[in-house]
Amino acid sequence: MSHAILIIDDTTSVRQQILETLQDTDLFSGYFQAGNGLEGLKIMLNEKIDIVLCDVEMPGMDGFKFLTMVNAREDLQDIPVLLLTSHEAMETKVKGLEQGASDYVTKPFSPEELLARVKVHLKIKALQDDLRANNQLLQKLAQTDPLTELHNRRHMMETLEAEFDRSNRVASPFALLMIDLDHFKQVNDNYGHQLGDKVLQSIAWEIKGSLRQYDSAARFGGEEFALLLPETTLKGANLVAERLRTSINSLEFAGPLIGLKITVSIGVAAIPNDKISSVSDLIRLADDALYTAKRNGRNRVENSIPT
Ligand code: GH3
Ligand code: MG
Ligand code: MG
Ligand code: MG
Repeated sequence: MSHAILIIDDTTSVRQQILETLQDTDLFSGYFQAGNGLEGLKIMLNEKIDIVLCDVEMPGMDGFKFLTMVNAREDLQDIPVLLLTSHEAMETKVKGLEQGASDYVTKPFSPEELLARVKVHLKIKALQDDLRANNQLLQKLAQTDPLTELHNRRHMMETLEAEFDRSNRVASPFALLMIDLDHFKQVNDNYGHQLGDKVLQSIAWEIKGSLRQYDSAARFGGEEFALLLPETTLKGANLVAERLRTSINSLEFAGPLIGLKITVSIGVAAIPNDKISSVSDLIRLADDALYTAKRNGRNRVENSIPT
């Protein structure tokens, strides 16, 4: 196994006994030692540690202070810390658990008990890590449109609300692009729905490729996409839209779609704008501009009239 353990104790012989006990097993491939809490904390910040055994009484930073420091850091607080306490001190054990220790081992320790406790906490940690990874995956799936892997509409609305508020608070510009494929019904009619889906994926890919660091893109509806551009004025957003329109227009399809040309109409709206005081105003103005683009012949960019 590739686990790493950190042993913190000011008594070298205790560290040595623990080390010998653990080295008889194949639980760990990494062993780290420290003589006080501060040294231990430094090691935790620099190495990937899976579990910590920590003495309570040490000069300098003791076990309790160490626990407080570990629990104050989000990147460390999930690493189990097992306190090494002397046999009698019940209050010490209780205080340690209250301060965030996962467990304790009494000194002098029995090797079997030490191993058993270490194994239990490694197992709990592994289960927690799995759970966290699964939660992250679920959250990602809940925010993602399955066909295009862009953000879905719900997630886009959340981002839009947050970004709208933030931009108003810091008096920054913020732009929204509404993109709709032109005559997409004909694509489905000519090539079938499945190839129509492939086209949507290609367009989504092209949109994704156009994003700058803080931009985000979403599938807003069937063949409609939205681009959120923080820190972008109406003028800047028009440039982005025009560039995207051109790049989609020059996409070359292969296989059964060879020769196909896709064009898009894009509506742009941005704050600050006297007519926009909410996210729905912003969407409505971008949508109005999109319909103007459709009315004016498609394959073009229109923007909401600036104030
Ligand atoms: P316009 O230029 O006015 O936008 O014409 P259009 O044909 O693109 O617009 P309309 O709103 O009339 O039709 C949109 C079409 O997009 C209808 C629907 O079949 C197709 N569509 C919507 N969602 C999907 C999808 O997930 N996959 C595929 N293949 N087609 C879709
Ligand atoms: Mg000590
Ligand atoms: Mg359309
Ligand atoms: Mg549409």
